[in-house]
Amino acid sequence: MGKEQELNADIAIIGAGGAGLPAAVTAAYGGASVIVFEKMAAIGGAANMAEGIFAVESNIQRRENVGLTKDQAFKLHMEYSHWRVNPSLVRVIIDRSAETIEWLMAQGAKICEPRALYPDSLRTWHTLEGYGKTITKALYEKAKEAGVQVLLKTPAKKLVLDEEGRISGVIAEDKNGNTIKANVKAVIISDGGFGNNMEMLQKYTNAGPDIIHYGGKGPNGDGIQMAWEIGAAAEGTDVLQRGMPMVRGEMGITRLNTLLSQPYLWVNQWGERFFDEGTYEFPFVGNAIAKQANQIMYIIFDDHTKKYMKEVGIDFGAGVYVPIATKLDNIDAELQRGIDKGEAYVAETIDQLASMIDINGEKLVATVEKYNGFCSKGHDDQFAKNPKFLHPVKTPEFYAIRACPTLVGTVGGIKINSKTEVLNKKDVAIPGLYASGNCAGGMYGDTYDAVTSGLTISFAVSSGRIGSENALRYIGK
Ligand SMILES: Cc1cc2nc3c(=O)[nH]c(=O)nc-3n(C[C@H](O)[C@H](O)[C@H](O)COP(=O)(O)OP(=O)(O)OC[C@H]3O[C@@H](n4cnc5c(N)ncnc54)[C@H](O)[C@@H]3O)c2cc1C
Repeated sequence: MGKEQELNADIAIIGAGGAGLPAAVTAAYGGASVIVFEKMAAIGGAANMAEGIFAVESNIQRRENVGLTKDQAFKLHMEYSHWRVNPSLVRVIIDRSAETIEWLMAQGAKICEPRALYPDSLRTWHTLEGYGKTITKALYEKAKEAGVQVLLKTPAKKLVLDEEGRISGVIAEDKNGNTIKANVKAVIISDGGFGNNMEMLQKYTNAGPDIIHYGGKGPNGDGIQMAWEIGAAAEGTDVLQRGMPMVRGEMGITRLNTLLSQPYLWVNQWGERFFDEGTYEFPFVGNAIAKQANQIMYIIFDDHTKKYMKEVGIDFGAGVYVPIATKLDNIDAELQRGIDKGEAYVAETIDQLASMIDINGEKLVATVEKYNGFCSKGHDDQFAKNPKFLHPVKTPEFYAIRACPTLVGTVGGIKINSKTEVLNKKDVAIPGLYASGNCAGGMYGDTYDAVTSGLTISFAVSSGRIGSENALRYIGK
């Protein structure tokens, strides 16, 4: 049996990622003693991998003459989400986004220019030099300097309430199986969502069994379950932050995955088109694949298009690191890699290709012929795809690559208000309990936002800070 250890502090924070680290620094700067519990051996969580952070009316945007206002961004987000969100929470996150960027830069994070994540989208996505590690590393250093105690490999397990229903502690377990009880006056849950928890994914969302989660190994729904156990209400549990489709077993921005996202011909397992492939917004791609049988798709192209990608360059980039017009000069080797994995296929005829991917040959031939007709006349009668992406599938050899839907993370779970206080089922705040980042709901309607790019990491950082500011007030600091 493991030992038991007691620790005392003002505030405990669960998770040292995109929301937990800013919460820790803010709390320590406000004069609180702080303990951070982190499940993994290293800090940062999914935040380490982020590429761009949302802000509106930032100084960087002002210097670049980006005229978008907070009011406009707020209205766009609310319309996009059909007001199925917490408007006061959305407003405060949008209003504070620019100041959050200034704060992050003051802590040492390197934040660059505002980019449009999707073609013709708003320039709200402020790129991060060297990914989100620029944020997490800087904040970790500041937290340590400010005396925050960060306990790695120490997952939080349970919240403790006093007799009056106020938060009074957290129980965690260290790497040797010893129990740690932290006696605290406030807790901020910031342990990410439940992307690794297949049981919760199946219960609350439309994620299929083949979904590829690449949001880090930590988030497992622990914080959400802990909060629900003590009476917190649920919000937004069904919203997924979906990413671009990927080859099974092929994580991240590889060339094979980049190939998949190109806007040529996509079909489902029935050999039918199911999407305007020229729509780059990941949430929409993810929604469309989720509706298909087996939740998989194939990209189909011919030798001519292969040459185009090699010599002219790709039409869709992958984040900032593989820009549009990148020439896939090693495309043959990449395709061979896919073939060796059993995820890519090459054939002399469409009929042969169809049999390799278990699609009815007549059906696929018919789909290709119809699609080629759209390419000839320069208009996609089916889904109105931008004509510049209409590449016919005519010249052997023909290629197919299978793709699975992906999950960046889940973005809901615990109901909070605009102070990030955790609410019970009567919408009354549980004294001393706050939730920030991916474990908290209220920001998204049914689909992760595709208009205000970079909002999840922005929400994580701002909601972490807001949580601590309110926790400091609550404990009288
Ligand atoms: C590849 C990738 C690219 C992305 N790009 C962008 C982008 O460009 N822009 C954008 O806005 N967003 C992006 N995101 C999303 C963004 O990174 C997340 O929304 C953000 O990190 C959420 O912050 P969080 O604190 O809620 O979760 P995390 O950053 O994941 O932190 C949660 C932490 O809690 C820890 N934890 C889990 N359970 C426990 C427990 N029981 N006890 C203690 N600790 C626990 C985890 O190990 C982790 O360290 C990206 C995500 C990925 C994966």
